[in-house]
Amino acid sequence: MGRAFDRLEHDVTELTPTHLRADILRHLTFTLGKDADHASLYDWRMALSFAIRDRIVEPWFASTRKTWETGHKRVYYLSMEFLIGRLLEDATINLGLRDIAESAMAELGQDFRAIVEDEPDAALGNGGLGRLAACFMESMATVGCPAYGYGIRYEHGLFRQRFESGRQVETPEDWLSQRHPWEFERPESAYTIGFKGEIITRDGREVWQPGETVLAEAYDTPVIGWEGKWANTLRLWGAKPTTQFDLERFNRGDYAAAAEPEALARTLSRVLYPDDTTYQGKELRLKQEFFLTSAALQDILRRHLAGGYAVADLPRHVAIQMNDTHPAIAGPELMRLLMDEHGMEFDPAMEVARACLGYTNHTLLPEALERWATYTFGNVLPRHMQIVERIDSWHRRTFHPPHYVGIVKHHEVRMGELAFIMAHKVNGVSALHSDLVKQNLFPELEKLHPRIINETNGVTPRRWLKMCNRPLAGLITDTIGAGWEADLDRLKELEPHVADAGFLTAFGAAKRQNKQALAGWMQAHCGVSVSADALFDVQVKRIHEYKRQLLNILETIARWHDIRQNPEKDWVPRVKIFGGKAAPGYVVAKEIIHLINDVAAVVNADPLVGDRLKVVYPPNYNVSLAERLIPAADLSEQISTAGKEASGTGNMKFMMNGAPTIGTLDGANVEILQEVGADNFFLFGLTAEEVVKRRANPDHARDAILASQSLQDVLQMIAEGRFSEGDPSRYHQLVHRVWHHDYFLVAADFDAYRAAQAEVDTAYADRMRWLRMAALNTARSGFFSSDRTIRGYMADVWSVEPAL
Ligand SMILES: *Cc1c(COP(=O)(O)O)cnc(C)c1O
Repeated sequence: MGRAFDRLEHDVTELTPTHLRADILRHLTFTLGKDADHASLYDWRMALSFAIRDRIVEPWFASTRKTWETGHKRVYYLSMEFLIGRLLEDATINLGLRDIAESAMAELGQDFRAIVEDEPDAALGNGGLGRLAACFMESMATVGCPAYGYGIRYEHGLFRQRFESGRQVETPEDWLSQRHPWEFERPESAYTIGFKGEIITRDGREVWQPGETVLAEAYDTPVIGWEGKWANTLRLWGAKPTTQFDLERFNRGDYAAAAEPEALARTLSRVLYPDDTTYQGKELRLKQEFFLTSAALQDILRRHLAGGYAVADLPRHVAIQMNDTHPAIAGPELMRLLMDEHGMEFDPAMEVARACLGYTNHTLLPEALERWATYTFGNVLPRHMQIVERIDSWHRRTFHPPHYVGIVKHHEVRMGELAFIMAHKVNGVSALHSDLVKQNLFPELEKLHPRIINETNGVTPRRWLKMCNRPLAGLITDTIGAGWEADLDRLKELEPHVADAGFLTAFGAAKRQNKQALAGWMQAHCGVSVSADALFDVQVKRIHEYKRQLLNILETIARWHDIRQNPEKDWVPRVKIFGGKAAPGYVVAKEIIHLINDVAAVVNADPLVGDRLKVVYPPNYNVSLAERLIPAADLSEQISTAGKEASGTGNMKFMMNGAPTIGTLDGANVEILQEVGADNFFLFGLTAEEVVKRRANPDHARDAILASQSLQDVLQMIAEGRFSEGDPSRYHQLVHRVWHHDYFLVAADFDAYRAAQAEVDTAYADRMRWLRMAALNTARSGFFSSDRTIRGYMADVWSVEPAL
């Protein structure tokens, strides 16, 4: 196919708007069957997306071919979540076609921005973990690491959030109700996935006879790297019935029963679980996890054998990464395939499996660590239960761990321990987190087999700087030249310019342009008018007690109260911006959302306060909203209880976009502080060690409240119903919890947080000082590119070289 293929190849560098326009019109006519006079925004978006996708297909084929021809090792990233967001603008940027696409659309009388924003977010994830997987896919393509991402093609991604009287209301998300132009359906790539059933003996071996089966069908989305030099595949599995449609039943008029197998099978890829911080022992979740993992492993083995290699050679060609414990069933499933399907003995199969597998831990929260009741596990996956027990007894015999260390304990299968034992490398996601994983989560296992390493998270600077912040990206290129996008350490070259008032002024102008755009958007979408001169103080992330949005809103109330007491003082105007969803069943988080909205209503309507304080909470925080908010932020709120946030990646996005952090010594904040320097970071609060000590005092909250007049006033106002007129008891439980429980030490850190916020005001009032801090945050953010993270995994975990 070589020659014919070569002639097909488009040269992206020669593409003109006129060429692209012809491609768009061709797709409009022949793919969509629309004529330009009657095309809607949706039709134009489809036509442009298909025209852009055409340009991705060729580098994609070329990358796949090269990997086949050279027998290069491939990385397989298994993740229950991929929080992708929109793809159109990102694809045009990586192909170097963004401006050409804009001109082509303009020639056709269409607004590129409107088309880009018409695309629904692919929200196949909850938050940081899923977004990390998406950034990794883009970085693996950029650095030329041959890779597949494996996930589930959920029909409904993360729910949509609206507010009704300040309360969160969830509605289903249906990104697939429109055509998804980026994927290719692969009906020929489908695997049978079994559940339940029994173990039978075949040729003297025990094998599994599933009682239920579904089909996993592949949908491939190409992922193009920077400058279009390499492309990988995101392969998402959709569930289908294995049984034929029951025509006999249908003809008898029993329509519901005829459709039943179809409906049952499809539930597996129907919805994303809307919570990744608590573990629910739901059978459907276990089935989803096995569905993804088994389909992926069958696909990996098929591809390996198709290359003509022996099964025992798997580790030379295959690295499999488990994104948290969700795909940790990969250990026993790979063992089953190697033993039951490929005839390997247990010991060599263990060696092969462990050499292939890596495990990334994402949380220390005990409530998030997956543990399956042996009853459920054994019922859904009887053969895997046997294999898990065999691995456990092999581990006991071989390593003599203390009696309390093992996989099956108290009638539960512990997925963290399973993942640890089956992986050759286990990694945490920030320096602090990796230390805590060693000391607190797996101390005994780590002593027996040291394998815990650190790979600090990162984010892709193509999406999170180049794409979302055109004013700043333009200034960077004007100042240090092109090429920083794939070599983010080059941002260091900005440092000498922070002594230049002209550069700082330009930096401030870029930020102001983003703030102005956000102010206009918030006016139109939230009905709140804010001044672009105010300090934009932003906390956007999932709503969780450990992330402490409560601390932020309590400080907001204290600030409001102070302004009312001293209206003539020279206040630095602030806009407090919140964003984030609470898991639908997380009552306390929903109460915090309600309080934020209630406070916003009171503060924003207070004529005494005016522009000195506004509170805005745009609903439905997602990747696209993050791209709008983060470039406009002056201040990044990263205020989790120390020891609870594994890494954070939002913190890195803000830093890149020139927003200094107010934060605790938690997760990757520690490394941000180290990179940017203490003068350019507003540090406050207890350390992880101090948190543990403070909690030992049962009166820690009471003591802290009694020591803080300001906190007493704030809690009193909430308790009196100042923010819940007509419903004074609305927040009694919340206030009671702060006084008497306060596991996340909001009270203990309140005064320190207020003091740090006062320092922020002082710094912001000195315009040149602030701009210098902001610019240094961008200049020193190079370390947080996910390209650096991926190179770390390639060297330390996957033993794979770039193919570029
Ligand atoms: C980056 C990102 C996150 C993670 O934010 P953290 O502050 O690290 O929790 C969550 N959701 C979205 C939409 C993101 O873009």
